[in-house]
Amino acid sequence: MKLTRLVCALAIGLLATACTTTPITGSSAFNMFSTAQDCELGTEAYSQFTADAPLVTTNWGTKGEWKNTVEKVMNDLASVAEDQGYDYEVKLIDDDGTVNAWCLPCGKMAVYTGILPVCDDAIGLAVVMGHEIGHAIARHGTQRMSLDSAVQTLLSVATSDETLQSLGAAAYEYGAALPFGRDHELEADHIGIVLMARAGYDPREAVAFWGRMDQLNGGSSTPEWLSTHPSHETRAQELEELMPMAMEIYLANQP
Ligand SMILES: [Zn+2]
Repeated sequence: MKLTRLVCALAIGLLATACTTTPITGSSAFNMFSTAQDCELGTEAYSQFTADAPLVTTNWGTKGEWKNTVEKVMNDLASVAEDQGYDYEVKLIDDDGTVNAWCLPCGKMAVYTGILPVCDDAIGLAVVMGHEIGHAIARHGTQRMSLDSAVQTLLSVATSDETLQSLGAAAYEYGAALPFGRDHELEADHIGIVLMARAGYDPREAVAFWGRMDQLNGGSSTPEWLSTHPSHETRAQELEELMPMAMEIYLANQP
């Protein structure tokens, strides 16, 4: 019943133009999904992913300490985000060779252990996680799904568990696997540094973090995560323009 309701609601959504306003940046976007539907899709995709992923589950040792830090940063950032009915959750993936992180609709995030040396500490993690949460808050995944004709066809034809699984797979693809466009990247940066500032993490660390990522790029292979993101020059310039606004928030939130 739940699935039928979801798909019916989505099919109706196809007929109407849905214009939404993005929290924090105030930008307008077309999205035929509701935030509740983001949560159904994000949760489905996340459970498919986490069923097979090598998760860090220990609280001990270096990886256990990182896991606790990742969870704390998630909690700090989620607690200052606008309430969209999301159920924020993060898993640390035990994969030292993968320099990556992503966040599916509804705030379902994965951080790979391979990105931890670049993060260096909790503030660096807050840069990565704030950025990825930014994509979820701005609903970039379902925005892109809304424009995908294959997804539209899927929505119009069937009401089955397979449909939900396929939509979940699409949510994963558009939220984690495929690169976002430049506008979405910069919007995620914008939201990310505002969340950092609100939560008491120095937003200036964002420029330093992206610099470290850029240096890594000078090595033998381009990290997966960086290859889907804009050039360091573009990003640094945009961040500098946003920094006075972010610093005002940061300083206002200092004890
Ligand atoms: Zn991004």
